[in-house]
Amino acid sequence: MSLAITQHVSLKAHNSLGFEVVAERFSRAESLPQLQGLLAEAEAQQWPVLLLGGGSNLILSDQLPGLVIQLANRGIELVEHQTDQVLVDVAAGENWHDWVQHSLNQGWYGLENMALIPGTVGAAPIQNIGAYGVELKDFFVSLTAWDRQTRALVTIAREDCDFAYRWSRFKGEDAGRYVIWSVRFALSTVPKLQLGYGGVADYLAGKGIVEPGPQDLFDAICDIRQSKLPDPAVLGNAGSFFENPIIPQAQCDVLKQQFPNLVAFPAGEGAMKLAAGWLIDQAGWKGHRAGHVGVYEKQALVLVNHGEGNRTELLALAASIQASVLEKFGVQLEIEPRQYPR
Ligand code: FAD
Ligand code: NAP
Repeated sequence: MSLAITQHVSLKAHNSLGFEVVAERFSRAESLPQLQGLLAEAEAQQWPVLLLGGGSNLILSDQLPGLVIQLANRGIELVEHQTDQVLVDVAAGENWHDWVQHSLNQGWYGLENMALIPGTVGAAPIQNIGAYGVELKDFFVSLTAWDRQTRALVTIAREDCDFAYRWSRFKGEDAGRYVIWSVRFALSTVPKLQLGYGGVADYLAGKGIVEPGPQDLFDAICDIRQSKLPDPAVLGNAGSFFENPIIPQAQCDVLKQQFPNLVAFPAGEGAMKLAAGWLIDQAGWKGHRAGHVGVYEKQALVLVNHGEGNRTELLALAASIQASVLEKFGVQLEIEPRQYPR
């Protein structure tokens, strides 16, 4: 079997920041034997491996050593139709938004709030993607993955994924070990809308939609996102650049006295989640430009590439933002996208 490895490949179109990145070697895995062959070759040659989906949560260096493997398997399979739900297997290489749209067209409901999240289905479990009060784990049953340690195809159930807020074991202790090959979803055949978040209900009311259906919700999410977030095809970005910090309730109470408009939400027992975008905005960064990179003018949580930026420039800006937020609020911001190589 030919492995079709190409050398010195530009990944500019494969990272949403739009950085000029060159992979030493690049290949696409469309089948399991191809993936296994590529991993075996990389191991034999001692090449470092980067698993790539859509490149929308990655901060890449100019030169990537070793082998980049893009997950490119396709397929959506209805596994079981139960009374009021369906179980569906979706290949890792499917585009996330296309899958959300497809599920809606089939009358399989639940994913509407996660419309327009860039990237692939296979990367969705990595940070348990979420938006507008809904998370992947709410509809996730299990995944199949190639375990690079035991060299076996394994099935991992929801309870074994350690899903948390924008987190899973695949982002933590097991980063790089499992190549996610497919994801099984349980979706409702009865609409169950999640409207109580971030102005979604207000938006629908403003449009005069009194009893919204799943399509209305999907359209609303797409509209809201397009009005607030830069399209990576036009302005390079990696979505939220920093995680929303979770801090102890007591620390939040003190901050609230000092900053009465502080944006904070309950995040479990004795913990509060701060809106990182608000902190950055209040520290004066919204719309700031530093060379070829900057802070998006409509949402301070999004750092952008104005054209010829690179990782070094972006991380320097990020460090300045982190320092000023720490100084003003005493809160440490952590970078959300994965940096590669470390
Ligand atoms: P990549 O960026 O290609 O990879 C991300 C990580 O996953 C890397 O570590 C990679 O090695 C690993 N990986 C990728 N595929 C696999 C696989 N099959 N098996 C194992 N490891 C793999 N995120 C949210 O949670 N909510 C949002 O609302 C949201 N909005 C965004 C908006 C914009 C404009 C952008 C640019 C990003 C946004 N993101 C959001 C972040 C991003 O879309 C998600 O993290 C997405 O899941 C990344 O998918 P990807 O295929 O691009 O992954
Ligand atoms: P937003 O709606 O302006 O809200 C700002 C922040 O407040 C968000 O971080 C959100 O937390 C929080 N928030 C708002 N209403 C809340 C509620 N009722 N309960 C709990 N928390 C609440 O945010 P936005 O930037 O336009 O993004 C909208 C949604 O898309 C958010 O869910 C965001 O996470 C998601 N998004 C994620 C990325 C990414 O790259 N990770 C990029 C773009 C958008 P949460 O972030 O926890 O929801």
